[in-house]
Amino acid sequence: MLMNAADAEAGPDLEPRIATIGRELVAKMPTARRTPRAAVERRVMGAMVADPELRAAVFRFVDVRPACDDPRELARHLGELLAEADDSPLARRGAALADGPLTRRATAKAAALGVEQMAQRFIIGADARDALPAIEQLWRAGAATTVDLLGEATVTEEEAESYARRCEETLLTLHEASRAWPSRERLERDALGPLPRVNLSVKVSALTPLLRPAAPERGIAGARARLRRLLAVARDTGAHLHVDMESFDTREAIAELTLALLSEPEFADRPSAGIVLQAYLTESPRHLDRLLAWTREHPRAQPLTIRLVKGAYWDHETVEALQHGWTPPVFQDRRACDRNYEALTRRLIDAQADGRVRAAIASHNLRSIAHAAAYADARGLDVELQVLRGLGDETQAALLAAGRRVRAYCPIGDLVAGMAYLVRRLLENTSNDSFLRAQAEGVDLTTLLEQP
Ligand SMILES: Cc1cc2nc3c(=O)[nH]c(=O)nc-3n(C[C@H](O)[C@H](O)[C@H](O)COP(=O)(O)OP(=O)(O)OC[C@H]3O[C@@H](n4cnc5c(N)ncnc54)[C@H](O)[C@@H]3O)c2cc1C
Repeated sequence: MLMNAADAEAGPDLEPRIATIGRELVAKMPTARRTPRAAVERRVMGAMVADPELRAAVFRFVDVRPACDDPRELARHLGELLAEADDSPLARRGAALADGPLTRRATAKAAALGVEQMAQRFIIGADARDALPAIEQLWRAGAATTVDLLGEATVTEEEAESYARRCEETLLTLHEASRAWPSRERLERDALGPLPRVNLSVKVSALTPLLRPAAPERGIAGARARLRRLLAVARDTGAHLHVDMESFDTREAIAELTLALLSEPEFADRPSAGIVLQAYLTESPRHLDRLLAWTREHPRAQPLTIRLVKGAYWDHETVEALQHGWTPPVFQDRRACDRNYEALTRRLIDAQADGRVRAAIASHNLRSIAHAAAYADARGLDVELQVLRGLGDETQAALLAAGRRVRAYCPIGDLVAGMAYLVRRLLENTSNDSFLRAQAEGVDLTTLLEQP
């Protein structure tokens, strides 16, 4: 029996359904990948979780890696890092990584290979054209994508212009190629209408060098013309444009700019567009109030998509606030953050039921995902679940096998950019509070699926 919002909140206990969905998803996850490449990756991850010294050294090593092409030089760099640790678990771990006693040079090479292979798994190509086979393969397998162009921080107008141009070219390349993709009814339509085949995620901070907390209005002015251009290309090619959310000090400016542009007559109906809500912000329930108020005042032919995430800058926000003697804007208690994520999930799904927004629930946490799926099922709705390429591959496979709607967030960039991205993801996922870390350490499923 389907529930309305009030029933679903107060009514039959969702917990048994959450546990069942969570267990079903685990049963559908592909068994550990057995390729030699996967084995190297697992060893790098496992070693990094177990050995903080190795973790620190790998991060330093990854910093150095893009600057040198010569494998000998690389070996020298890692050799130096290992030498710093000398007889520490780090040096021993290096040998274990390569499955046996090794000279320093061989250890360095093994670690370099591991890091490089991992970076390759997180990016789907050097540029849009290079990424087309991977995107089409996902489409054929039943998974939608959103593409993200990686790059260094934007510090000049030329870099901002170059990023905007790469985004435009990507939209055009994907538009052209996507016409030949086979029909996938599931990915092209939902209860609220047609869904674009092409979907691009953009970062406002890359569209201007001026997005600074001290003067956000300058950043807004700097990015406005370029974001407007991208919205126009998305509208004209029938693509979806999604604006990612970044650090707290730019949140207000990014939300204001995006909603202001979408309110303009030329974008009032199209393109399909979206924004991100970060549940780790203690103020996020108020942010959602404002977004929902905006959707009431600006009904769109293509409802606004709201991607719910926890937030990728937790350490930065906490350290920054404490340094200034401010109260951090992010929850300090992991469970409180997860409870808030679930409350926002239910509100977003309720708003989708009213036809005002499309909810996209982005997480690799099995509990968060199973909770969203159970609530959407109870309300008779099909909610989109999103994962990051590389980190969420197994979850994605399980969700597809369970017949759920999935979108993979796929970074594009060269190996150098891929490594910078890999560092951020590794830092996040080998941190104490990560769900993926708990899962990798073998925490039992009942505990992983517990109500936060
Ligand atoms: C498709 C997709 C798109 C994304 N887009 C964005 C984006 O635009 N902007 C953005 O900021 N992030 C984005 N992210 C990243 C996201 O915010 C999370 O960092 C990441 O998904 C990890 O959260 P989780 O639910 O998967 O894992 P979990 O392990 O369940 O959660 C980890 C998260 O919990 C929070 N946390 C960690 N420690 C604590 C603590 N002590 N107290 C309270 N909270 C804590 C942090 O947010 C951390 O990232 C995206 C993720 C996906 C899957």
